[in-house]
Amino acid sequence: MRVKSRESKVPAEVAVERAGGGFYFRLSTLDSRLVGGRKAIGNFTMNRIEVGILGATGMVGQRFVSLLEHHPWFEVRWLAASDRSAGKTYGEACNWRVRDPMPKPARELTVHECKPDHAPQLLFSSLDSKVAGEVEREFAQAGHVVVSNSSNHRMEPDVPLLIPEVNPDHLALVRIQRKRRGWKGMIVTNPNCTTVGLAMSLAPLEKQFGVEKVMMTSMQAVSGAGYPGIPTLDILGNVVPFISGEEEKVERETQKLLGKFLDESVKPGDFAVSAHCNRVPVEDGHTESISVSLKTQASIEDLIEAWRKFRSLPQERNLPFAPKHPIIVREERDRPQPKFDLAAEHGMATVVGRVRPCPVLQFKYTALSHNTIRGAAGAALLNAELMKSEGYLD
Ligand code: NAP
Repeated sequence: MRVKSRESKVPAEVAVERAGGGFYFRLSTLDSRLVGGRKAIGNFTMNRIEVGILGATGMVGQRFVSLLEHHPWFEVRWLAASDRSAGKTYGEACNWRVRDPMPKPARELTVHECKPDHAPQLLFSSLDSKVAGEVEREFAQAGHVVVSNSSNHRMEPDVPLLIPEVNPDHLALVRIQRKRRGWKGMIVTNPNCTTVGLAMSLAPLEKQFGVEKVMMTSMQAVSGAGYPGIPTLDILGNVVPFISGEEEKVERETQKLLGKFLDESVKPGDFAVSAHCNRVPVEDGHTESISVSLKTQASIEDLIEAWRKFRSLPQERNLPFAPKHPIIVREERDRPQPKFDLAAEHGMATVVGRVRPCPVLQFKYTALSHNTIRGAAGAALLNAELMKSEGYLD
């Protein structure tokens, strides 16, 4: 599929040297201290693929706009949201909640209705799930590549549910999707923000030892509920032990992600997963208490080594959004914590710690991941980068 690109300049002050070769760019949603110390290497000109964002005014949509500001491969040219926002400039329509300022080029763009008419071929979607199902289908049918965050299509058998480090081979499902549905376009999805930390930390364990049973209890940030989210009086000083549909999503998505791609479909992982999901008064970052039993013998040191050594296709190919270390192991007895560990690898790593024996299952540990970056916009960007590197956007 040929996707339109145009030549544009990436400014010198954001082009920074990356340890280990290649280049890096400023991840604008995180505190700028994160990139302090890296050295500017000068202007460069490149062909960047024009992209659009469906649901651009929401929590995740804003992350897309911010993360894409200096992306070396993709450039935001088109934004869309509900008819409440359509016709306004992005600056007028959007209640900007990201710490870094709204990128200037986006501020002046007009927000469109979610209609395929003049949209770029590659679209990131962060639409409200009430409308995402139908709208994304309409765009894919009209020939667009939709890289979605929404839950609507994730579990359809011919739709890839992807974490590029975990199951890059599942991307091949799009060939079956297009053939079956007669589409010129396609839909590719990333998992729920709670699934991602669980699946990422289980992936090396499944590969090396086999996973038998998993229990997961989440402490999920308020930003996971979109904007304006839960009323202050319902969440301050409180824990809400119910998030509609979340536990079922985490259980089924984890099995699909760690499943095997056989011929024309994915055979889900054969392990049992039980999830308890809770909303807590934390701004960003989902923390998870996980217990696991494995199919073969392993020690705590084996688990730690498997996590530390874990690398995959995005790291081999040095994809722009790939964390150098997808899983970071903290050894302090009280880490990971959202306050200190959320920014690891620019919000793209899963941070694990507190690995210890579990008297019920075999091992227990804590995992943390950034819900609107690795659990949403950053995840979709890495999916699109994988698609480009696999030739799906040529
Ligand atoms: P949000 O802040 O509520 O934003 C929803 C977006 O959808 C807004 O741009 C909104 O536009 C648009 N929208 C609402 N109704 C629409 C309609 N009828 N037609 C067209 N556009 C419409 O939600 P969010 O937190 O960004 O989440 C977006 C999606 O990503 C959801 O499906 C969510 O489940 C998923 N997700 C969220 C997270 C997270 O951590 N927040 C993580 C993973 C996945 P207006 O501003 O014009 O109303």
